[in-house]
Amino acid sequence: LSERLSGVFDKLGKQGALSDEDVKTALREVRVALLEADVSLPVARDFVAAVQEKATGQAVTRSVTPGQQVVKIVHDELVHVLAGDGDTAGQLKIDNPPAPILMVGLQGSGKTTTTAKLAKRLKEKSGKRVLMASLDVNRPAAMEQLAVLGVQVGVDTLPIVKGQTPVEIARRAKQQATMGGYDVYMLDTAGRLSIDEALMAEVEAVRDVTSPRETMLVVDGLTGQDAVHTAENFDARIGISGVVLTRMDGDGRGGAALSMRAVTGKPIKFVGLGEKLDALEEFHPERVAGRILGMGDIVSLVEKAQETIEAEQAERMMKRFQKGQFNMNDLKSQIEQMQKLGGMEGVMGMLPGMKKMSKQVEAAGMDDTLLKRQIALIQSMTKKERANPQLLQASRKKRIAKGAGLEVSELNKLLKMHRQMADMMKKMGKMGKKGMMRGALG
Ligand code: GDP
Ligand code: MG
Repeated sequence: LSERLSGVFDKLGKQGALSDEDVKTALREVRVALLEADVSLPVARDFVAAVQEKATGQAVTRSVTPGQQVVKIVHDELVHVLAGDGDTAGQLKIDNPPAPILMVGLQGSGKTTTTAKLAKRLKEKSGKRVLMASLDVNRPAAMEQLAVLGVQVGVDTLPIVKGQTPVEIARRAKQQATMGGYDVYMLDTAGRLSIDEALMAEVEAVRDVTSPRETMLVVDGLTGQDAVHTAENFDARIGISGVVLTRMDGDGRGGAALSMRAVTGKPIKFVGLGEKLDALEEFHPERVAGRILGMGDIVSLVEKAQETIEAEQAERMMKRFQKGQFNMNDLKSQIEQMQKLGGMEGVMGMLPGMKKMSKQVEAAGMDDTLLKRQIALIQSMTKKERANPQLLQASRKKRIAKGAGLEVSELNKLLKMHRQMADMMKKMGKMGKKGMMRGALG
């Protein structure tokens, strides 16, 4: 992608806003690059459309080239799609012991290996007692494979009884996990070379007798289009709660990750990075985004662009404040800055004497969820309203609060805060440049 894009980008204009034509040219190349990285066609198409919307008309930042800027937008959108809500990577729901975890996927995707890797992780990182059971009655020696891995990672496996059906084994695992006081029991199912009815019916029956807390789809990260097909099928029929992408140590470009995430909307929780049993990591969207873009130095490039863009934004904002302008967009940037600094708690922790106040702050509902609620309210305003908060009369207020799923009283508090800050900005503006603390804007 690097060479291809830099060629195109050199031709892009250097001034003003990114033009339609600039963006279109660049994104045609981005689309090809995505397809080369094994992202499925419809996903690549949607992705490019989303980026186009974000990029068109965006002001070109002075110190980065339009090319760098488009790369940054593409990168950020990739991370955004890959991360989803972003808070479930590396996590499994394993309350109410014994918690069943169902492992599903095609043959050879790495289910059995991943089962052992996850069991090891649960044992070592979370101190959980884990029982593993192989339900693979098809492949010769599949059960023995899991038993051997169990010994290697020091995790118990369900004793092998030949001649039982997968459902019978699952029942036995549940019983043993309950009686043996295990926290988690993992069910390693049989795969097939491709999706078929017999496989689905079998997995479905196992699901119904165990009600898994997590159903993890294990997918080979080297497969592109197929991965999507697999994920759609498993999700439609079985319902998956998360994805593990294996073989991310290979030279696949990770396009499967984007496709999977976009199509199923299910979080990618872990990635497999080798055959060794500790080669499992929680999913890092930035790394995969860098990989899809195919540039080793993309991350530092993006960081540099980010810093420049932030500095210019701060400068532009400062100028507005000095003129006494402070609208909802400014307030939103301020709140987002606070979130970056680690939210209310982070900011409070940095100020002397504030620690003591944190209880009162909590009582006043001023925790991190407040910042999120405030952002939600601002996002529910139209562009015009954000620029001119004085427009906000009763009916608009109702609509905005409803759009954010909150009460009007909460919106009123936000508006009051905005007025107070606007006043303060005005006063600070009058004090002139000297009185302003640049650092205050981060
Ligand atoms: P299953 O049929 O889905 O149970 O797949 P297995 O767990 O038996 O794995 C099939 C092969 O893939 C084995 O040789 C594993 O060692 C290998 N494998 C599994 N995960 C990874 C991974 O993340 N990276 C690499 N390089 N190999 C893996
Ligand atoms: Mg297996």
